[in-house]
Amino acid sequence: MSVEQQINELRRLLNEYNHKYYVENNPVVSDYEFDTLLRQLQDLERDNPQFDDPNSPTKRVGSDLSNSFRSVEHSFAMLSLSNTYSLEELHEWIERTEKEVGEVEYMCELKFDGTAISLTYENGRLLRAVTRGDGTRGDDVTENVRTIRSIPLVLTGEGYPDFFEIRGEIFMPYSSFDRLNAEREATGEQLFANPRNAAAGTLKQQQSQVVAKRGLDCTLYQLAGNHLPFESHAESLDAARRWGFKVSDCSRLCRTTSEIDEYISHWDSARKEMPFATDGIVIKVNRYSDRRKLGTTSKAPKWAVAYKFKAEQALTRLVKVTYQVGRTGAITPVANLEPVLLAGTTVKRATLHNADQIAALDLREGDMVYVEKGGEIIPKITGVELSERKAESEPLKYIDTCPECGSELVRYEGEAKHYCPNQSGCRPQILGRIIHFIRRKAMNIESLGEETIELLFENNLISNIADIYNLKASQLSVLPRLGEKSADNIMQSIENSKQVPFYRVLFALGIRFVGETTAKYLAAHFRSLDAVMTASREELVEAEEIGDKIADSILDYFADEKNRSIIERLRAAGLQFEAEERVVASEQLSGLAFVISGSFTDHSRDELKALIEAHGGKNLAAVSANTSYLLAGDKIGPAKLQKANKLGVKIISEQEFIEMIGGDTMPITSSPEQTLQPESTMQPEVGVQAEITLQTADSKSESKSKKDASDAPTPIQGSLF
Ligand code: NAD
Repeated sequence: MSVEQQINELRRLLNEYNHKYYVENNPVVSDYEFDTLLRQLQDLERDNPQFDDPNSPTKRVGSDLSNSFRSVEHSFAMLSLSNTYSLEELHEWIERTEKEVGEVEYMCELKFDGTAISLTYENGRLLRAVTRGDGTRGDDVTENVRTIRSIPLVLTGEGYPDFFEIRGEIFMPYSSFDRLNAEREATGEQLFANPRNAAAGTLKQQQSQVVAKRGLDCTLYQLAGNHLPFESHAESLDAARRWGFKVSDCSRLCRTTSEIDEYISHWDSARKEMPFATDGIVIKVNRYSDRRKLGTTSKAPKWAVAYKFKAEQALTRLVKVTYQVGRTGAITPVANLEPVLLAGTTVKRATLHNADQIAALDLREGDMVYVEKGGEIIPKITGVELSERKAESEPLKYIDTCPECGSELVRYEGEAKHYCPNQSGCRPQILGRIIHFIRRKAMNIESLGEETIELLFENNLISNIADIYNLKASQLSVLPRLGEKSADNIMQSIENSKQVPFYRVLFALGIRFVGETTAKYLAAHFRSLDAVMTASREELVEAEEIGDKIADSILDYFADEKNRSIIERLRAAGLQFEAEERVVASEQLSGLAFVISGSFTDHSRDELKALIEAHGGKNLAAVSANTSYLLAGDKIGPAKLQKANKLGVKIISEQEFIEMIGGDTMPITSSPEQTLQPESTMQPEVGVQAEITLQTADSKSESKSKKDASDAPTPIQGSLF
């Protein structure tokens, strides 16, 4: 291959990896591998300047821009960071820096592993939140960012500039990440590979309410603005803390190389105790005057560098690949390894996700493989040591029948995983469904417990969820480890479960992709199981949050005769198949008809509809001369707006609507549990609610963006500090 071909091939590969990483949030190689290839390209370009290209991935910030959000120009370029995995190179950077500006003060900070965000504040209020995008323009994700509790909507203290930007990292703490993946596993959705991808993917969600319940967090580490009243980064961070921003208290000012080394070595191990992922240390020149002297390149400032921690890796033998069958029939391949010590624990198994991943790695049993444990809890295989591959080794053949029941596996369109379709005859699927049904968040019959379920199954007392309601205390009390008392307790909780509200019954059925929140949306929209069961595809997708994939899964579930007969037995047992009656709260909206469009900050559309009805109003599907109000949220359909304007229909915001009904944001039914707001949805802090700006009409948002443009400081590349 000629040098030019090598350069082109590296550029192509790196662009592809960038897309997978930033846009799809689904990296296919490790960061170390990516950075090694990038370094190779940098070296080739340096030695062969005739092939220079301003679009090379060495010169540009990896872009997260997508088509689903309004893109906004950054007032100040949002750059990346140069990075190194070597202390020696870091020391060379320090030497170069000091040669240029003399004695330097450095701020050492943790490098949070999330996704960069730029927040703009005007007169102390959050105006806009924009992703890094391609460094020049980013995606406007303001509505999503408003749901993150650690981001102040209104600043505290005093002395903040009238207009400024502050930048930081939005990340997902391990606890939120584990919970999210557990939920996705339960509904058969693809898992996020690591907290960074989960944070980046969540931030680009279309529904702010989904973002709100995923538990994102944010730390701020950089102020940007013209004429900031500070001499140094440290001073600016202290001020940011006073204004109410969450600023890490793990940073440290260092004056010598050995102080920096000490900081790195401390955090290399201490970071493992932190509740969130970090992937290195950022070393920044502290004084703004020094930063100005050092300047920036097109990709990164010269006054900062990231020292990245190499994910801990070990080499071991892949003994065998086995396969697990989940509740939904999803097959997960598992790598069984020769035990190896990695990051303080002995690793014997690693996840392999699906057949594609095995093929991409060209894994073969008997191979020596690299196992990595980054921020993630579950170790993964990142590569094969080909030099140690045995000559007689053969490509791994992925199974085509279920390891539990022998059924032929299927692969649904657009799905990475294989599935066992034998839902009613495959043991782990049957047990998994029953265990899901009894969970606390579902029917809450947890006193039954997983082991007892297995015992009952082995003794032919249950083989599906409806059988639970035929159990008798006398059958339970004779089982090992269960006495009369536990049998009575179980019978009591089975009886209590008959009062569990409808949406939880719907969730408990274990329909693929119907998680707790989806079940709430379905229940609020259709109000009864019969209505869900008889809904057509078109009717299903009309409900909020229900897309084609979920609709198809619901249709499949109810098309199955066995499922329908189970449903009838559950009905006979007395489970709640209907949402409770709505409470009529007032007649304030009597005689008024509303059309709802767009997405909202504090309520889902179904919740707003319920509030309208609860106050005596009527919901209409389309704007007509009979419409009294168009209740408009973000991203409202232009056709609806146009029509409303033409017919002179009054357009109101969510806030105005809530004011109309006297500030009522109460649950929509008599049962507090039935409220649609997902339980972990974060409400804006008290007192802040009133400041939420809703774009109620195009004209308004237009004037808003015009105002933004005129008020924003003139972009001056590289004059950031
Ligand atoms: P980066 O993640 O290496 O460093 C820059 C980013 O660090 C900033 O944008 C900011 O978001 C973040 N950061 C965290 N804490 C910070 C702090 N205290 N101060 C300042 N910034 C802080 O750079 P990048 O441009 O976001 O990503 C490039 C890197 O991403 C590559 O070097 C590679 O490691 C990885 N990557 C991996 C793949 C892959 O396929 N595995 C693909 C593309 C990029």
